[in-house]
Amino acid sequence: MHIPLSNRFLELGSGFYRKNHPVPVSAPSLIVFNRQLASVMGLSVADFNSAEAALLFSGNQLPVDCEPLSMAYAGAQFGHFNPQLGDGRAIYLGEVNSPDNGCFDVQLKGSGRTAYSRNGDGRSALGPVLREYLVSEAMHKLNVPTTRALAAVTTGEEVARELLSPGGIITRVASSFIRVGTFQYFAAKGDIKSIQKLADYVIERNYKTVVEAENKYLEFFKQVVERQARLIAQWMQSGFIHGVMNTDNMSIAGETIDYGPCAFMDEFDRNQVYSFIDRGGRYAYSSQPSIGLWNLTRLAEALVPLFSDNTETAVEYARSVLNAYEACYESAWLMGMRDKSGLMHCSDKNSSDDKKLIESLFEIMHVNRADFTLTFFYLSRLNKEPSNLDSHIQGLFDNSDAIDAWLVKWRQRLCDEILTDEQRQLSMQAVNPVYIPRNHLIEAVIRAAEDNNDFSLFNELHLVLQNPFVLQDGMDKYMLPPEPEEVVENTFCGT
Ligand code: AMP
Ligand code: MG
Repeated sequence: MHIPLSNRFLELGSGFYRKNHPVPVSAPSLIVFNRQLASVMGLSVADFNSAEAALLFSGNQLPVDCEPLSMAYAGAQFGHFNPQLGDGRAIYLGEVNSPDNGCFDVQLKGSGRTAYSRNGDGRSALGPVLREYLVSEAMHKLNVPTTRALAAVTTGEEVARELLSPGGIITRVASSFIRVGTFQYFAAKGDIKSIQKLADYVIERNYKTVVEAENKYLEFFKQVVERQARLIAQWMQSGFIHGVMNTDNMSIAGETIDYGPCAFMDEFDRNQVYSFIDRGGRYAYSSQPSIGLWNLTRLAEALVPLFSDNTETAVEYARSVLNAYEACYESAWLMGMRDKSGLMHCSDKNSSDDKKLIESLFEIMHVNRADFTLTFFYLSRLNKEPSNLDSHIQGLFDNSDAIDAWLVKWRQRLCDEILTDEQRQLSMQAVNPVYIPRNHLIEAVIRAAEDNNDFSLFNELHLVLQNPFVLQDGMDKYMLPPEPEEVVENTFCGT
């Protein structure tokens, strides 16, 4: 299998990376290869062979012309700036350019120590590899911008975590691996030339249209802010909690990146935190929009010298872009939530009333611990007139009077709609998934794989998540919330 790689990042110069080779592993074995993604990337898979793929996706054998490297970056971790992070367990192989679909950066994660590994082993346990594979691919199918997964392998070696665990390597694909923290890395050194070089590199690859603008760096920043606001709005609409929104885990391209202790919520709780390391709840579900702005403010601080030669003017420009974040987030959130709730008809009057109506649904979901995904799943199957179908959604609420009262208001609002029940249900079902990668399902996948080398659950869950909006025969267990004994309280980074 041939992966035609080029590497524009190399041209930025040695201050941006360290050349690093993956450290070979003893017995690589392919778990999964993403043919669909390979085809989008324009890779030829006619001569695909899993033994060869295992060598390639473990880093034991490099693609021809590959000059692997690990990238330098800094980052604000839980609010504290760390000037020296970088790819400690990831190695960048280069980019695949597809004439039709753009550029795809390719990276191995878990492929051994690099110049930035500090005290880490540069490895990844199998569990987090499977979690990232499932969740990132599910996000893609849910139409949320994300890095993707091209392949996963087991290494035949063990890694020492809380216990010894089998090792794994994931091949990740992104439209960029540059992070907010990459800009901070050079800002901390006062190296404005490199900030500009990096911005030009990102603009050329990911924000081509801004070169037309009068102030291209300001326009670039504006578009980064908009992409991030829209991305976080989508997380909020899906009940997704990233878990570690440090600035080194925020992609400059507006994609969800670095799936660590992330999770989709079952019961709605706006204060939900899963990450074991997030003791203060900094990255709780409801804090994500404001953390997004905090991170973008850190980016602004790094980019400000590019906006104008006059510092005061530059800061003023940055401020005005940051000030637009909230409105951009709110409007993306409301638009997506109206689609999810079947409120298509938009007038000025409806807009603020719809916001209140939707917020009041979240309020009763929170109080009654209603399952996030199933609430919208059942809502998207209801008729304009009450019927016995209502019992499904009622069953999700501890106090069904609360949802009954809400449904009365929702149905009044539906009088403004022109769609038939069937038309509205179809459009709601296209945005309200049946299946999400629930935490307890992922946990079961990991247990089977790590304890028994059994990947059948991984394959089945992965298959179901390929079509998250379509009810699939015999797959009920994948739509149901966990039984009390299956609830996963914490997710771990696995670092
Ligand atoms: P993360 O928690 O994945 O965002 O990682 C934070 C930083 O720690 C990044 O610089 C990673 O490259 C580094 N890191 C995480 N796990 C390891 C590991 N096992 N070995 C070396 N570096 C690591
Ligand atoms: Mg990270």
